[in-house]
Amino acid sequence: MKTAIFGGTFDPVHEGHINLARQAAECLSLDQVIFVPNYISPFKRDTKVTPGEMRCEMIRLILGRHRSFRLSDYEIRMDRPCYTWDTLNHFAGICGKDICFILGLDSLMTLDTWYHGTDIIRNYRMITGDRPGTSMEKAREKASEYHAKYGGQVDFVPLDPVDVSSHEIRREISAGMNEDLIPPEVKEYIEENGLYKD
Ligand code: ATP
Repeated sequence: MKTAIFGGTFDPVHEGHINLARQAAECLSLDQVIFVPNYISPFKRDTKVTPGEMRCEMIRLILGRHRSFRLSDYEIRMDRPCYTWDTLNHFAGICGKDICFILGLDSLMTLDTWYHGTDIIRNYRMITGDRPGTSMEKAREKASEYHAKYGGQVDFVPLDPVDVSSHEIRREISAGMNEDLIPPEVKEYIEENGLYKD
């Protein structure tokens, strides 16, 4: 089984996430892409934090978008902030040590500063794709640096970049704007539950 872990806050999950995960699965013939929403500390943001179970539910609604898509509430169940390094090791213990790690270009640029970031780079193959706001040229330089310093392997999958982020979506919904870069089923869930209104 070829498995990739895709971590994030997914507050909410949007077309940018789906696009990256689907392309990763298709281009690298992955059997499973496991979305792992992060626990968010209620103290982290000044705005209201969406409960983990609701962020999981929104991901559940898009699992049909690709046959490889899976959801794990592992970090949510931990009920405390988790380090990606620990989470990857957890899944490596279950799915095999050659699991990959999907991340956006912006995350790739800072990965070496994360907790055990250089160990992540040494031990787990990374998959990324274009994201507006981060230069592809700089990201390729960073990937070369990771390879030279730590033997890291980064796969760049071809993506039609989707210019969207969760915080923009939250801001636009709160301003009463129509949001079309979230799947309709997620949009319906947000409306029904009155999320991101204030
Ligand atoms: P926020 O706006 O709240 O910071 P986000 O939209 O960046 O959230 P996250 O849940 O933090 O979403 O992202 C999870 C992962 O998905 C990260 O590695 C991020 O780089 C990547 N990602 C998010 N949006 C996109 C996008 N539009 N295109 C490509 N990758 C993306």
